[in-house]
Amino acid sequence: MNEAVNFGLKNSPNEFVRNFEASGISLYIKREDLLHPEVSGNKFRKLKYNLIEAKNQNKNTLLTFGGAFSNHISAVAAAGKILGFKTIGVIRGEELGEDLEKTCSENPTLKFAVSCGMQFEFVSRSVYREKHLPEFEEKLKGKFGDFYLLPEGGTNALAVKGCEEILSDSDKEFDFICCSAGTGGTVSGIINSALETQKIFGFSALKGDFLIPEISKYTSKENWELITEYHFGGYAKVSAELIFFINDFQKKFQIPLDPVYTGKMLFGIFDMIEKSVFPRNSRILAIHTGGIQGISGMNSLLLKKNFPLIDV
Ligand SMILES: *Cc1c(COP(=O)(O)O)cnc(C)c1O
Repeated sequence: MNEAVNFGLKNSPNEFVRNFEASGISLYIKREDLLHPEVSGNKFRKLKYNLIEAKNQNKNTLLTFGGAFSNHISAVAAAGKILGFKTIGVIRGEELGEDLEKTCSENPTLKFAVSCGMQFEFVSRSVYREKHLPEFEEKLKGKFGDFYLLPEGGTNALAVKGCEEILSDSDKEFDFICCSAGTGGTVSGIINSALETQKIFGFSALKGDFLIPEISKYTSKENWELITEYHFGGYAKVSAELIFFINDFQKKFQIPLDPVYTGKMLFGIFDMIEKSVFPRNSRILAIHTGGIQGISGMNSLLLKKNFPLIDV
């Protein structure tokens, strides 16, 4: 079972990015984005033990929640197809359901999910906010039958367990480990499996420090810090400077970054190196958590705003 849910994968490679001569700092990136072409990066890690649990409970349907460009929706759809689960995505935005064909023609994430066989339930923003109420789950069960529920963003204790497998023995040589955070599940797993002597920085993709108590739910360790300065206004928000950084990074190091998570984290790491936040000669490992599927969706938004686009 474990093997089937692993899709036959091993750990992802660390790639050298660059030395910063002035400070002696070296930066490596763990290419979790290369784990699987469709169940990318941390989303694969977060799903693994949940999919095993769903099979153990003899569930044949996965139901989850997400925004219209969600990496999690995309990953659940792909994993369901590979492993033979029916999948249902409860998507924020009632208007998207009015003309599904038109919606899919404008939204590569949902188009891909449909191609994997995912069924959608489009709901208004107010219903979406109340999705955790038992009445809503009952209504969904009435409509779709029994299912295994994956929370929005996929974070639960089993997801954190999967993310504890991101680091491997060879990563013990790093002083700092950096990881982007949306719900905080991924960085929690990394904190749990890192050495006491390593320091973990979680880069929040959202405004504020509400992730501190979230992460503390899944770890009792203290060798970590939430970095809150590099959210650029939140999930769907970018600046021209960020787009330029992502394009420049791709050109220089041949590593694509996504605009929601990894691009903002790497921008932050470069800025923090510049501002001497890291001690001299630090060895830094940044986790590439994937998210590349989101680039074309972001580009269609940027195009409408007459903004520079992300190179693909
Ligand atoms: C979902 C996602 C994250 C955030 O993971 P959490 O466990 O929710 O903190 C980070 N990077 C990418 C690319 C993601 O898709």
